[in-house]
Order: sequence, then C-alpha cells, then structure tokens
Amino acid sequence: MDDRLDFSMSASDMDAGDELSPIRSRFHFPRTEKGADSVYLVGHSLGLQPKAARDYVDRELEAWRRLGVEGHFEGDNPWMPYHEALAEPLARLAGALPIEVVAMNTLTVNLHLMLVSFYRPTPERHRILIEGSAFPSDQYAVASQAAWHGFDPAESVIELRPREGEDFIRTRDVEELLEQEGETIALVFLGGVNYLTGQAFDMERIAEAGRRQGCVVGYDLAHAIGNLELRLHDWDVDFAVWCSYKYLNGGPGCVGGCFVHERHGRSDDLPRFAGWWGHDKATRFRMPEVFEATPGAEGWQLSNPPILPLAALRASLELFDEAGMDRLRAKSERLTGYLVHLLRTRFPDGLSIITPADAEQRGCQVSLRTGPEGRRVHRHLSEHGIWCDWREPDVIRVAPVPLYNSYSDVHRFVEVMAEGMGSAG
Ligand SMILES: *Cc1c(COP(=O)(O)O)cnc(C)c1O
Repeated sequence: MDDRLDFSMSASDMDAGDELSPIRSRFHFPRTEKGADSVYLVGHSLGLQPKAARDYVDRELEAWRRLGVEGHFEGDNPWMPYHEALAEPLARLAGALPIEVVAMNTLTVNLHLMLVSFYRPTPERHRILIEGSAFPSDQYAVASQAAWHGFDPAESVIELRPREGEDFIRTRDVEELLEQEGETIALVFLGGVNYLTGQAFDMERIAEAGRRQGCVVGYDLAHAIGNLELRLHDWDVDFAVWCSYKYLNGGPGCVGGCFVHERHGRSDDLPRFAGWWGHDKATRFRMPEVFEATPGAEGWQLSNPPILPLAALRASLELFDEAGMDRLRAKSERLTGYLVHLLRTRFPDGLSIITPADAEQRGCQVSLRTGPEGRRVHRHLSEHGIWCDWREPDVIRVAPVPLYNSYSDVHRFVEVMAEGMGSAG
C-alpha cells in the first residue's frame, strides 16, 4: 500500500495541497515553554480542543443562567432531547442507523451495561475471547463479569496472542480459533484498533466468523471511532462501546457511546439494567412503575446525561461532518504512510515498527519498539516540543491525526527523533 504512495514532494508542499489542512486552525494546540505550538501526536490519548467547544459549552451555561430548570424544554437546544442531536453524527462515524447509537456514560460503564445484556454464559458456552494485550480496563471488565456469573475468569477468559516472533494477530488465526472452539465461546470482544500495537482488526471478517459459530460479537472502539471508517450495521456487529476523548476530541472524561444493532434494539428478551432515561420517551415523565424500554440503543440509558460535555463533543462532531470520514481516512492513510516512509528511510535498520505495514490493518497510530535508548529519545522529543506517548518497557506511540496534524508535523517528528537517536550515548 505504502509503495503506491508518492512522497517525493516536500512536507510543506503536501500540506499546501491538502484540502483538509484549514481544519487545523480550528483547534487549540498546547504551547511549548518557548511559546511555540507543540507538535501534538497524542490524539490517541486526548484529542485537542476544538476552538468552538468553549462557545458550545458557554451557550448551555448561559441557558442555565437564564432559564434555570426551564432549560430542559426551552432555549435553542433544550436539554431533554439534547443527546438526540448527537445520534446522527455519531451514526455516521459508526456506520450505523441513528437508532443504533447513543451518547451516554463512559466506556467501561457502557461495556458493563452491554455485557449485562449480551454476555449470557452457560456451562457449555461461557468463554470470552479478548486480545492478549487488551487495555486493562477491558480485561478487568470481562473477568469481573465472568466471575459475577460464577465462572473462574482463568478458565473463561481466553486471550489471543500473536504467533511466536510476530507483533500482531493474524485474522486467519482468529478465524481458525473460532472454527475450532467457537462453540464454547459466548462472546468475542476485541478492540477495533489495539491501543498498544495500533493493529486494526478486520472487524467484518471476525464478526462473520464469530456469528457463524453462534458467538456474540462486540467491539471496543476507543481507538477506532473517528480513526477508521466503520460499518457496524452492515458488519452485523452485536454491540460496540467507545469513549470520546481520544480521536473524537470531546474533552477529558467526556461522555462515551454505545452501538446496539437494530436487531436487538427492540428485543424484550434481553436482560438489562434499567433506568428512567431508558424508559419509553412517550411516557417517561408520567413516571410509570413498570419499565418499558425506548426502542434502540437509547433504551440502555440510565440517567439524564451531562449536557456540558455533550456540548463540547458536539463542536467536534461538526468538524467531522465538515471533513467527512471518507476524506479523513484517505488523508490518514497518506499521512501515516508518510510517517512510515520517513521512518524507514531515516532508520533503515535501527527501529522496529510493531504496527502492521498494510494500511488496511492500521489506523493513524504507529507504534515503535525503541530498544534501550527509548526512554532518553522520548525525553529528547518532549524537550523539543514533540508530544508522543511512552509505554513501558520500550514502546513509543505516535498518532498523526488527519483532522489537525500536518505533513510538516510528521516531518518534524522524524527529524527530532533522528537527532535524539543520533546523540545516543
Ligand atoms: C481509553 C480506553 C478505555 C478507557 O475507558 P474509560 O472507561 O473511558 O476510562 C477503555 N478501553 C480501551 C481499549 C481504551 O483505549
């Protein structure tokens, strides 16, 4: 894939030719001590603040000031249906119908709520398939759910690992495992993009392989939404969860989201933990005694949502709509392709890239195994205004985000990295 991209132009010429480059100026970049803009390559951890976020939040503070409790029903954006305005833009990012998505809670809370409904273990089929290097919160959540149902997590949770000597997991190996052991697996739950290696799973093929064996298939999209083009509805995924402070730029601790496939959205046979906000909207305020779910993902809501973080998220979702996920993904493949191209040219044998080389199998993130000098190189990068992420024992994770990063950012990163490596003692 990379080999088909032409990087003979300079970074600044590529920026000049990038139709999405004006969107960069709609974000605040943290400043370095010397007052320069940083090169911000950690959108995989916390996305930047859209400049409009403050206005959006201010408007709701103003409505609260002016209207008090009436703000639920009055003003430009009444709070009662406020979360509904996020369904369409989120559905576009998730590749879903609006009824299949909802902005609510935070990721791990949503994961537990989904597992209450979708992890239905039996003595014959109680196992959960996850990635070996899953984000710890996901590991804790699935293990505690297995234990809650009376199973021993050491037996119930199975972890996928790359083959000996390889860095990421082959789709074919997942399919084979499912063919052989699928009948004992209740749930397949993988990250759309692995947070450590940056591997993007073939969610469509894995969902098909899992569902063929009668497994429920869910995805954690923390590193995938706003990064990859998703088609959750067509892929027939059962459920998905995400947070929105990474690539979605909703701000620290912002409201996460959930996808529930349409075919489950009206199902009364699924157990669920219920709350008043998930109750049928038509009768919610009559406060009836018996819970009746609103159709779709909204029926899993518990509480009325926090409006201020939703307002900030709205500002960012508008930028996604302006850019379009198809254009963002096209730029992303090129921008990350450029990063990999520069790294290979600059360090022909010095650096190991643990992210798949195939653009189809990665999002914007690239993870580098740096060797013993890594910590020092990472410090050198920080001291020169380059923000990237360090994971013990030796991994640097860099994410050029197509919404706000430039080819010049990528170029500068590699130059400063080379300086850092070159001065290795
Ligand atoms: C970021 C991330 C989380 C964070 O969970 P919260 O509940 O939002 O704190 C969980 N899982 C994965 C895979 C993540 O990348």
